[in-house]
Amino acid sequence: MHEMSLVSGVLDAVLPVARDAGAARVCQVNLRIGDMVEVVPDALDFAWECLRDEDPLTAECELSFTEVHPRSRCLACGEEFDHSRFHVRCPRCGGAETRLLQGREFDIVSIEVETPDDEPGAPDATHDGVDPAIPAAAPPASHDTGR
Ligand SMILES: [Zn+2]
Repeated sequence: MHEMSLVSGVLDAVLPVARDAGAARVCQVNLRIGDMVEVVPDALDFAWECLRDEDPLTAECELSFTEVHPRSRCLACGEEFDHSRFHVRCPRCGGAETRLLQGREFDIVSIEVETPDDEPGAPDATHDGVDPAIPAAAPPASHDTGR
């Protein structure tokens, strides 16, 4: 089931944003999921409940999503039409050459966070020892010029 990796990707995207915003915790994450992604809602919920506990910021976070129904454009006649996940054929000319316009998205629409309001304007002096983005100078490659 690919829900685990989808949820993992969502958390990877949400957590840095929440930290940057100084969030005390993330309350809710809202997604848009196209039907073509073929997400099983129960499996998504299960993956979410497993993985959200891995960080205290999201441990009580709710996941909500809206479904996006597939829509395509016929390459022969230009007709745009909604269709099911499996049946993609132009209703006007019967053409099967189509381009998907929507229905394959997996987007984070918004996240709702709770900030610690007991310390208004608290300086974010709580770095945890991670030095941001200073790559170690790479030693010059030592080519063996002998042979
Ligand atoms: Zn057509």
